[in-house]
Amino acid sequence: MYYDYLIAGAGLFGAVFAHEVQSRGGRVLVLEKRDHIAGNIYTEKVMGINVHRFGAHIFHTSDEEVWNYVNRFARFNHYVNSPVAIYRDELYNLPFNMNTFSRMWNIRTPAQAKAIIAAQTGEYAGIVPQNLEEQALCLAGRDVYEKLIKGYTEKQWGRDCRELPAFIIKRLPLRFTYDNNYFNDRFQGIPEGGYTQIVEKLLAGCEVRTGISLQEFIARNGEKPQAEQDRWGKLVYTGMIDEYYDYCYGALEYRSLRFETEELPGEDNYQGNAVVNYTEREVPYTRIIEHKHFEFQTGPGTVITREYPASWNKGDEPYYPVNDEKNGKLYERYAKRAAQEKNVIFGGRLGQYKYYDMDKVIRSALDLAEKTGIPGNL
Ligand code: UDP
Repeated sequence: MYYDYLIAGAGLFGAVFAHEVQSRGGRVLVLEKRDHIAGNIYTEKVMGINVHRFGAHIFHTSDEEVWNYVNRFARFNHYVNSPVAIYRDELYNLPFNMNTFSRMWNIRTPAQAKAIIAAQTGEYAGIVPQNLEEQALCLAGRDVYEKLIKGYTEKQWGRDCRELPAFIIKRLPLRFTYDNNYFNDRFQGIPEGGYTQIVEKLLAGCEVRTGISLQEFIARNGEKPQAEQDRWGKLVYTGMIDEYYDYCYGALEYRSLRFETEELPGEDNYQGNAVVNYTEREVPYTRIIEHKHFEFQTGPGTVITREYPASWNKGDEPYYPVNDEKNGKLYERYAKRAAQEKNVIFGGRLGQYKYYDMDKVIRSALDLAEKTGIPGNL
């Protein structure tokens, strides 16, 4: 069989790209090494609740075209992410906003909050932050940094805040209004019925094989008589770029996660919120997710997941690229090699070693399809 594209990975990037190629008349074969599609946005029903198996995914975007696109594959509800943070016996609203400041300093007005933060910023005022600690101190002052950022970040990334890039903390809004919306984006929601159905619909009509890695596929294909071998025009690889090249320049660093999911049939509302962060260093998990609140479910029973950050070693699931300077330089070497490939394209969080959100993954897959997805363009 001839395929215009062989796509390794049935996560969001692979599925959007496959869908786009197919809808332009191209033929695709999608390979997935896990036994299920949808990568880390995989959700599955447990006790009637859609459980985010590989970490909470909240869809948010300011890209209207991407928003319209995902709405073709699911109905999105009006969920707005408003996590709370627990630090010892104190509870704060996130992101950092007037609710947080008012609880922390017993104040009411933005002017009071700004004055306290300015006083706490001290020697860091006006500097160009060189790392996450400096960035956090500049933005939010010492109290917020010590109680809500330092412990969480150091357990999440397994390293000192001074060794982390500043941009990570800029993912979080800081505002002087009473607004607990974790995102600044124009559009936000959770697909009613979970994420897996989106990927199922994206891949409808495409040939998909699960439980097989690219390496296994190539080996098995090579064993067939030549006339029966599958052939393809281009390969789209959504796994780790360094693994693809057999770590020839060295291994990139990733962070991993371990999830501990508990079904609580006797509990209807465990924590009153979908996401509760535990920001002190001593609590080994970073957050507890109560999945039913993503879809406003109120029935009996609940399912919760504790999320434990973990170091990554070869063979573990990679969740986050560690986008610091050292890894950035190493990635550039792989990217240079990748740019010379005529028939291999790397996509998604792992293929491009980038801390992409879902909307950015979709945007990049759509752009790639626009550029190269039409079979005649091969
Ligand atoms: N963060 C923090 N305290 C929190 C939540 C987040 O310091 O209570 C920091 C932490 O460094 C984290 C970053 O903000 O890695 C980004 O958080 P986000 O919730 O965007 O991460 P994700 O959901 O992708 O894990």
